[in-house]
Amino acid sequence: MDHTKTYMITGANRGIGLGFTRHYLQQGHRIIATHRNDSKELMALQTEFPSHLILITMDVLLAASIQQAFTNITSAVTHIDVLINNAGRYGSDQATITKKLDIEDMAITFRTNSLAPLLITQYALPLLQKGNDKKVIHVSSKMGSITDNTSGGAYGYRASKSALNAINKSLSVELAKENITSIVMHPGWVQTDMGGKNAAITTDEAIQDLTQTIDRFTIEHTGGFFERTGETIPW
Ligand code: NAP
Repeated sequence: MDHTKTYMITGANRGIGLGFTRHYLQQGHRIIATHRNDSKELMALQTEFPSHLILITMDVLLAASIQQAFTNITSAVTHIDVLINNAGRYGSDQATITKKLDIEDMAITFRTNSLAPLLITQYALPLLQKGNDKKVIHVSSKMGSITDNTSGGAYGYRASKSALNAINKSLSVELAKENITSIVMHPGWVQTDMGGKNAAITTDEAIQDLTQTIDRFTIEHTGGFFERTGETIPW
């Protein structure tokens, strides 16, 4: 029996997205890796896994780029088993109420972190319907938990991830009719460009936990907000 799955991962050129891509390639799966910019690490994976890695250019901020990407994806694969909406940004605003708020920057963060995953999921739907696993994983953040917010500030990033969580809840209700599981996850505080060098865990540690937990998810978990190890996070 063929256990090869088709994963689509956004923001695959660095950080957690690159980690997911490398992990699933090493497991023998087929990956649609979308990226706005190239990276030498992603190019090296293409050299190592030429028949399993499909590279697709996609800027998640641009609707036309998402549309063109899916034209290319649809001509390359028949289905998607697992979509991982990973691409995200923190934004340049270190917003606190006493500093000047950069509203334009926050709008870009909201578009990237909240609206793009919704649009990408809509484009991916016909391919997910033909998949076997039928999972959508949004890489959210505990900073989007309203209950967990004890330090304040970070208005753009926090609100964008809370919005992603709300969007996922609606998606989960609609997609349950298609037997598609839709989840939001916190990857941990991870040593990437976003998380910084002092973050608590390496990308490899995050990916090991995330991938094991994603494997365990079933339709019973749909709509939930989970730690990388599977514990529920309060909204
Ligand atoms: P990262 O190292 O900064 O990587 C961000 C990725 O998102 C890059 O591949 C980047 O591509 C991509 N991206 C951003 N804007 C894009 C756009 N408009 N179009 C296409 N790709 C775009 O961050 P990371 O730590 O790997 O974060 C991955 C996800 O985890 C994010 O959703 C983040 O919010 C979440 N997260 C991370 C942490 C952490 O501690 N690291 C904690 C909680 C949640 P470019 O190279 O083209 O910019």
